[in-house]
Amino acid sequence: MEATIALAGNPNCGKTTLFNALTGARQHVGNYPGITVDKKEGTYIGDSGRIHVVDLPGTYSLTAYSLEEVVARDYLVREKPGVVVNIVDASNLERNLYLTLQFLEMGVPVCIALNMMDVAEKRGFKIDSDKLSRLLGVPVIPTIARSGQGKDELMAAAAKTIRDNRNQPPLTISYGEDVDNALLDMEKVIRNNRFLTDRYNARWIALKYLEKDEKIMEEGREANAGVAAKLANEAVQVAVHLKRTLETYPEAIIADYRYGYINTIVRQDVIRRGQENDRLY
Ligand code: GDP
Ligand code: MG
Repeated sequence: MEATIALAGNPNCGKTTLFNALTGARQHVGNYPGITVDKKEGTYIGDSGRIHVVDLPGTYSLTAYSLEEVVARDYLVREKPGVVVNIVDASNLERNLYLTLQFLEMGVPVCIALNMMDVAEKRGFKIDSDKLSRLLGVPVIPTIARSGQGKDELMAAAAKTIRDNRNQPPLTISYGEDVDNALLDMEKVIRNNRFLTDRYNARWIALKYLEKDEKIMEEGREANAGVAAKLANEAVQVAVHLKRTLETYPEAIIADYRYGYINTIVRQDVIRRGQENDRLY
């Protein structure tokens, strides 16, 4: 069977441009079942063979706050593409890595296209893609989708990720003592009851309850109403506690810690400002 990769990224990261560069005229537009979001698919043919490419809707997040997010997430869970090629806008690195972290937390295999390298360099900075790759634990391939630069290297890395089929454990981010303790409790309940664990990892499900992800909560109620009620109740208790002690919400804490994690990575010399007379490109 032909390998499948899914292209995912923030709006305007260059996803459509890369999709066109990869598939040329070998593409067609369909629909996701039951909804009106376009589903673009195509075929890449190159040294890495034939690869089926699906263009997911552009999203900033993977929580069910918008139709695009639900479509992208459901596709990953139901169709299980061999690898997610996450297109990251190098000129807006921190913001774009927010989505990357969510793929890693979900535990899907990821390969990063560090796109818009020309824009980043024109703005006077360089990104150390090898270092970023080491820190994130996934391949990072620099690309310029507009000229097609890097696309074959990207497909080679994607094909290798599919072949290796490493069962990469999901990324675990600390969300501070209060949230971490609640997550551990909830994870225990989730594991003991095998609650949605055929689809998602336990920590990820617990996080979705804290983020009040309606879609997951609904899936949960359908799977086991008793366990779902218990988790929802625990999430409310966390929310009440955070409100009382810190005047904040679980969603805000979760976002803060994710950005903290990204900052820690990016600060380790991943981005370098160019000198006046450095030739950057
Ligand atoms: P999408 O929203 O992710 O599908 O983004 P598009 O593919 O529509 O790209 C957004 C804009 O960025 C378009 O004007 C593209 O031509 C441009 N673009 C995409 N990739 C690159 C790149 O690597 N370098 C430069 N300079 N522009 C790019
Ligand atoms: Mg597009």
